[in-house]
Amino acid sequence: MDKKIIVTGDRPTGRLHIGHYFGSLQNRVKLQDEYKSYILVADVQALTDNFNNPEKVRKNVREVVMDYLSVGIDPKKTTIYIQSMIPEVAELTVYYSNLVTISRLERNPTVKTEIAQKKDIFGESVTYGFLGYPVSQAADITALEGELVPVGEDQLPLIEQTREIVRKFNSIYGEILKEPEAVLSTQKRIKGLDGNEKMGKSLGNAIYLSDDEEVVNKKVMGALTDPGRIKKDDPGNPNICMVSYYHNLFSSKEEVEAVCEECKAGKRGCVACKKQLAKNINKMLEPIREKRKYYEEHPELVDKILEEGTKEARNKAKETMKKVKKAMKLDYFEQ
Ligand code: SF4
Repeated sequence: MDKKIIVTGDRPTGRLHIGHYFGSLQNRVKLQDEYKSYILVADVQALTDNFNNPEKVRKNVREVVMDYLSVGIDPKKTTIYIQSMIPEVAELTVYYSNLVTISRLERNPTVKTEIAQKKDIFGESVTYGFLGYPVSQAADITALEGELVPVGEDQLPLIEQTREIVRKFNSIYGEILKEPEAVLSTQKRIKGLDGNEKMGKSLGNAIYLSDDEEVVNKKVMGALTDPGRIKKDDPGNPNICMVSYYHNLFSSKEEVEAVCEECKAGKRGCVACKKQLAKNINKMLEPIREKRKYYEEHPELVDKILEEGTKEARNKAKETMKKVKKAMKLDYFEQ
């Protein structure tokens, strides 16, 4: 009953990949035993930069949930819900928007970076909705009385923004809201197959949790290796090879040591090295694929999990909203 509340989520803009697995999903599976966990499928937030492609967002809601379930997020321990189906969050966002200035949002380093990356969508002038998504995120967290939010370093300014909003709200209307804390993820960001710092759909350098064996084999064959290595007996440098980088994630200690030694000594062929890696990735993904297949064949179960999770999250948000409205003197007809 007294478990601390954790709130996390993802924008449903595509299936989840191994970067998500090592970056957050693995951790969420562990945390669900210790905390009361909520995971929101942030469709409203996804629309802030996909407003002209609602089909994409809708389609990916179930894809993302199937990825959650297939890696071991347990709906008996974790409440999975759809953001847009909690109208209280939209209402809270409106109230919170009075407590944040435009210039403060523009200065938020996470938002600044994202706006720069999305010039193709926004051009020179960003939308009000995208600029304000940290306000909506503050509503997501506080509506469920989230106390802990696991994040990567690049997301810390968003949690700081939530904390500022909470402090301002409480100083004006009374101590109603809980100030959440960021829990910095110890997992590092996984690089793409091409060596890019980020793994992502738009970059075409990701291995998805739902990729089949053949697709994984093909992708691994295309991974970046030491470009200086032409012949099999050329001494290589595993430190600049993505295959070696992924061996560190998927292969045993002994295998990793052998990869390094044999590569440096020119005693290992890149094709064999890649085949060994693909085998290990497939071995790790196999039970995930199997579980996913089950949910793909039973979409009614996915819907049920989402419906029940959304109902539970909404009840919690309603309780918070009642307190908020009372504090803001908006509780007409309820005295
Ligand atoms: Fe990379 Fe393996 Fe080739 Fe060395 S042998 S360059 S580690 S793929």
